[in-house]
Amino acid sequence: MQDGRARDAPRRLRTLRRVETGRLTGVGPKRAAALRRLGIDNVFELLWHVPRRYIDRTRQTPISELGDVRLADGEELTVIADVEGISTRQIRRRLTLHELVLTDGTGRLRASWFNRPGLARGAGKGATVAASGKLAWFRGRPKLEVSALEVMGSASNKADTGVVLPVHPASADVPTWLVRELVREALDRTGELADPIPPDLRHRYGLVSRTEAFGEVHFPTDLGSARRARDRLVYDELFLLEVALAMRKASYEGTEQGRRHPPGGPLWESLDARIPFALTSAQRRALEEIGADLASERPMHRLVQGDVGSGKTVLAAHALLAAVDAGGTGVLMAPTEVLAEQHHANLSELFAGLVVPSDETLLGERPLSVALLTNRTTGSERARLLADAAQGAIDVVVGTHALIQDGVDIRDLGVAVIDEQHRFGVHQRVALRERRGADTSVPDVLIMTATPIPRTLAMTLYGDLDVTVLDEMPPGRRPIETILVPSTGGGPATVWAHVRREVEAGRQAYVVCPLVADSDQTEAASATATHEELEAGVLEGLTVGLLHGQLRPAEKQAVMAAFREREVQVLVATTVIEVGVDVPNATVMVILDADRFGLSQLHQLRGRIGRGEHASTCFLVADPTTPEGQARLDAMAGTIDGFELAERDLEIRGEGTVLGARQSGVSDLRVTRLVRDVTWVQRARTDAFDLVGRDPHLDSPEHALLREEVLDLVGDDVDWLFKS
Ligand code: ADP
Ligand code: MG
Repeated sequence: MQDGRARDAPRRLRTLRRVETGRLTGVGPKRAAALRRLGIDNVFELLWHVPRRYIDRTRQTPISELGDVRLADGEELTVIADVEGISTRQIRRRLTLHELVLTDGTGRLRASWFNRPGLARGAGKGATVAASGKLAWFRGRPKLEVSALEVMGSASNKADTGVVLPVHPASADVPTWLVRELVREALDRTGELADPIPPDLRHRYGLVSRTEAFGEVHFPTDLGSARRARDRLVYDELFLLEVALAMRKASYEGTEQGRRHPPGGPLWESLDARIPFALTSAQRRALEEIGADLASERPMHRLVQGDVGSGKTVLAAHALLAAVDAGGTGVLMAPTEVLAEQHHANLSELFAGLVVPSDETLLGERPLSVALLTNRTTGSERARLLADAAQGAIDVVVGTHALIQDGVDIRDLGVAVIDEQHRFGVHQRVALRERRGADTSVPDVLIMTATPIPRTLAMTLYGDLDVTVLDEMPPGRRPIETILVPSTGGGPATVWAHVRREVEAGRQAYVVCPLVADSDQTEAASATATHEELEAGVLEGLTVGLLHGQLRPAEKQAVMAAFREREVQVLVATTVIEVGVDVPNATVMVILDADRFGLSQLHQLRGRIGRGEHASTCFLVADPTTPEGQARLDAMAGTIDGFELAERDLEIRGEGTVLGARQSGVSDLRVTRLVRDVTWVQRARTDAFDLVGRDPHLDSPEHALLREEVLDLVGDDVDWLFKS
């Protein structure tokens, strides 16, 4: 960094990535390490480390006036003041009173709390603190019962930051005031920043410059200015991300040759004729979109998002048959063996009796063949299957990721359907696309996901795909009642009584066992124990089956078959039943320790019932110990709509955890909150696709900086980006 010198050109953010925090005043190896734990390695990351809230000093009541405004007992407030004295007193065993005497120049206020010695860390004499809590009146004098304490400045580092005080995310080693001072130094030394957002877009939304945005987001003149700064940064990071996604999409489409699979061929038509129900309008719309993709020479790259039971299978079936109609092979890849087998069974039934042209038979046709390939397919069976597939004697192959292993060569792979259920990543998708035919054409890829994703998230997470949403359920669904049951008291007894009644009425039930610390083995043990307990206890006399991941494949299959055949009445299981199990006669779902499960997992589990003609009940047995656990259960009780739950999930968890490391860029959103910033996501997406449409490789000189930043954003993942 150059200090104090006049600079002719505005600084590029890229250069700030190279300035390590150690170059800042007072940052030695120890502080640098502490900053790294906060996710800050360099000045670029420091600037993006924006305040998590602001304290508006103009709305502070001076201590001397607390008596005048006569705040009621129990009123919440935050006081910013200097520490004049500190004391700690042992009241009795396990009860320590901590007390600060605060002064703001107008008066004194006692602020106290019990236990929690860490709260006062760094709050030495002379430090400035923001103390929040409830006001209590004691003999006519106010006293603050502290619930949160933030050290805003040390004795030597006063919080002289204007009327709006930023509260930066901090840690025990790096208090918020230190972050603030480092940011201030970084801003001072950085000066003017170059701006990658084209001026017309900036004007369209009245966005402030990048320089102003970083300055005001950290040290706002007032709260309105902080908001404008934040808007600019939200657009900034979303726009860059969407440009990256738009370029990836363009590179897929522009550089790869696909195949034409016109819909409406003989098999497609006969499938239409044999489906026993009328398609929902959402399914019809989806089929039209998929049909247009299939017909085009451009490779299809489409995501269908639809809740459990929304009817995705029939879409997959159409796409697969379009491949066969065009003389090729259709492939369906599922994330688990159970699910692959289920798909294989469903499709075999749906396609039974269909024929394809063949030169090798007298009639000139042979039955359409549907094969199953998983890791369970072994030895000679596998060899025969692969030989057939290579010769084109198989029309549809259903399988797990065994399909993308070496040695699997599928002739004329035309359409690949990936039932993703949120379990595959980008890599598997790419691998399947690479299984292209000898003519190097790329298959049409249709991805189906049952985990509803809020639209905003889909636009970023799946921003390089076309998205179809199945937002309508087939008619005739029975309602599911969801009941929260505490594990103590009489609750569980009524649950088991309900299970027994339903079984006696000819229905079936699932009992899902608690998640156990990430281990299949202990989960199996817990399921086994629960199974024994129920069978010998409250469910005595009923046929209770057991299903968990440690069983041998043949055992799993046998249990599932017995449950489907109604021989097993109650199935005790781990989350292996989360996907793919379809038994319409099951009307009860009991989830034990339900607060330990994630919201989307609970939703998937509940989706196992309510699939038949009878009303269903889902019991969530739990004693939630965290607010989030309670919030998840409340959300489940509040709605069965998957999209609504997905939004709630995003609110409860925040996007970082929802996305994980799924796709580069997305998990790096630093300022944006997808739930809150929907409008900005839409704007950024439209603008980015528009711009990439005009300048696909960002070659034009006015996009040079944008190009540079997009490259930095995608990092090592650039291969796809600028290839042409
Ligand atoms: P998904 O794969 O999206 O979870 P499925 O394709 O398995 O859902 O469909 C769930 C059930 O609904 C199946 O039994 C299917 O036959 C039935 N179904 C699908 N579409 C319709 C429709 N339009 N009308 C009536 N039933 C339908
Ligand atoms: Mg399905």
